[in-house]
This record gives sequence, structure tokens and C-alpha cells, in this order.
Amino acid sequence: MPAPHACFVCGTAPGDPFFSTANAPTHANLLPATRDAALAVERAAIELALCPTCGLVFNVAFDPARMTYVEGYETSLFASAAFREYAAAQAAHLVDARGIRERTVLEIGCGRGEFLRLLCEAGANRAIGIDPSHAGTVEEFANGGRLEIIGDAYEEAWPRLAADLVLCRHVLEHLHEPLNLLGTVARAAAAQEGALVYFEVPDVRYTLDQGGIWDVIYEHCSYFTPVSLAHAFERAGLRPERVQGTYGGQFLTIEARAARGTLEPGARAAELEHLAHATRSFAETHAHTLARWSTELASLRANGKRAALWGAGSKGVTFVNAVDPDGAVIDVAVDGNTRKQGRFLPGTGQPIVAPADLAAVAPDVVIVTNPLYAEEIRRELRERGLTAEVRTA
Ligand SMILES: [Zn+2]
Repeated sequence: MPAPHACFVCGTAPGDPFFSTANAPTHANLLPATRDAALAVERAAIELALCPTCGLVFNVAFDPARMTYVEGYETSLFASAAFREYAAAQAAHLVDARGIRERTVLEIGCGRGEFLRLLCEAGANRAIGIDPSHAGTVEEFANGGRLEIIGDAYEEAWPRLAADLVLCRHVLEHLHEPLNLLGTVARAAAAQEGALVYFEVPDVRYTLDQGGIWDVIYEHCSYFTPVSLAHAFERAGLRPERVQGTYGGQFLTIEARAARGTLEPGARAAELEHLAHATRSFAETHAHTLARWSTELASLRANGKRAALWGAGSKGVTFVNAVDPDGAVIDVAVDGNTRKQGRFLPGTGQPIVAPADLAAVAPDVVIVTNPLYAEEIRRELRERGLTAEVRTA
């Protein structure tokens, strides 16, 4: 067992882990093509600790050597109408309130470029995406907007890629050396007058304060609050201008520019105090939620009822691995993302089917692990004439 990590942002030795789990799948978003492969996925320990200096929550047992982001790593949430609406609103904010119109925008880790496409459509922007798994995509828009996805490493390519907006969504929480990327972004932003930086990460306050326990996954080695995110930016030479909780409190967005500046110390002290309190009760909340779901599923089973999971994302994968590891009650997972259909849940092996296939399964209960999607799922079940009861985890 290697020595536990020091804080990924400030290097402080953390306190004792406040939460541990032994056997988390290392890739909750990599969906195997066969049931056997799904049952044989690699697992590792998560041990969350709080940095007493900067407030970062992080996995002290994280082993970066285990992380490979191979083809098929699927995290797009654009299959959900609720998510599409959210993303469109964020793009509209950047175009209208931040003046990102007919500009050059660059996104690090852009996936298939869905968010960049919104910026091209809403603001006639020229978009460059960096993502090795989707390189080669070029798309022209009627309004003069243009999207190109290239496969270069941002750390080396940035001097050739001047941009007025540097975006990075849901990447930073995967990095055990986040200041390396932030430092490169700070250099790029400093080289382009007026450049804006926009990052989005999960908000650990949703996990700690609102019971969003299914967001603790191995891929996420760092978990940010507004203050710890701002602190990481400041250390890298980026001055935060706006840090905001979004998406029902599940995400944090930060807008920054290349400059020195610090957050007022009072905010950090108050947040550190809150985190110390919230992390102390987390393991108990987590155990309590697991116990409640084990009882609920045992009761379904005793009554001969069957359940389906709706949403084969990391929350769903974490949920099923924690409460129904043998697939005793949950038969299938449903997902509107066609790239997930036909694959299997990592760790537990349930097949992932399309919503249209759910009628054949006819579950008594549909379990939803993100409350933001419960309404659109209820609607879809009604439209398909299915009477399954929807329960939110
Ligand atoms: Zn720290």
C-alpha cells in the first residue's frame, strides 16, 4: 500500500479519511461490451480526506496509474432533456452576458463537442475542441460558426491555439495534479488579452450536505467546494470572477482571468468550518442510506417485484454496486444514450437497454439516482404506457 497522498492542490497532509470504501470500480463510466467483462472490472479503494488548509476533499488512496481513458469512456449527459436545457442556458450566459460572440473558443476534453456546438449556434463562434477520442470532427454552421476537434495534448498545443474563452468541463476532478492543467490555462489566458476561463466541476457540497453519495467515484480523485476551487485557481495564477452553484446544486462553475488575486480569508475560514462538520457525519449518512436501500430492495424481492435502474451513468453504477451487487432485484439499466445501449453495468453486469425495450422487461419499480431526471423519466414512462413506480435514490 503506497503512502497516502498529500493535498493535490496545496500539499498539506490531510487528517484521517472520513469515508472509506474498499471495492469501487475504477471506471464507473466505461461500460463493458460483455457481462463477463462487466463482472471482472478492476476495483480499488476510495479513502476520502479533507485538506485542513484549502478545503479540498480528495481520495488519499488514489492511484493515477490505474486510470486510463480509453475509447468508449462515455460521460455525455446530452441524452437528457433536462441536461440539454441546462447546457444551453450556460452557453447563452457565455454568449450574452460574457460577450463570447464571433470569438475563438477552446474546450479541453470536449468529448463529441456538444457544448461547443451550442456556443457556435448561439454566438457564431469558432470553436476548437481538444479530445483525442473525437479528433477529426469538423462542422460548419450557417451563421459562420465553425467547430473543429483536434487530438493534440493541450499542454503542448496551447501556444498555437490562442482563444478568447478557454473551457474545461468535468475534467479537473479527475486530475491528481490539477495545478499542472490550471497553470497551463493561466499561461494561455495571459497570452490572449481579455481571455476568459470557464471550468465546471461537481460540487462536493451536494454530496456532503444533500446526500448525493452516489457521486463518490474512483475517477474523481478531487472534490471541490467554491472556496477550494477558487483557491486552486488562485494558486495557478487565475483570478476567479464568479463561482456559482448550478444544476440543482450538483455542479460548480467558475469564471476567471489570468491575474493574481485572492479570495477574502473570512470565506475560507467559514467554509472550512462547515466542511469539518459535514465530513464528520458523512460516513454515517452514507451507511444509513445504504441500509435503507438494502431494506427497500429486500422488501421488493420478498414481494416478488423487480426493479430497473434508469440512467447508466456513474451515479447509477455506484448505486447498484453498493446496494444490489449480485443483481438480486435490479434486472436491467435503461439509458437514452445509444452508445450505452447493448453494454453492461461495470461491476454488476446488468444489461443496458433502450427506453423502448423497457416494456418487455415490465419492471414494477424504476429507480432514478439523479432527482433532476425524475420528472422527464416519469413522463417518458407514461408516454410508453408503463405503470412502474419511480423511486429516487
Ligand atoms: Zn489543500
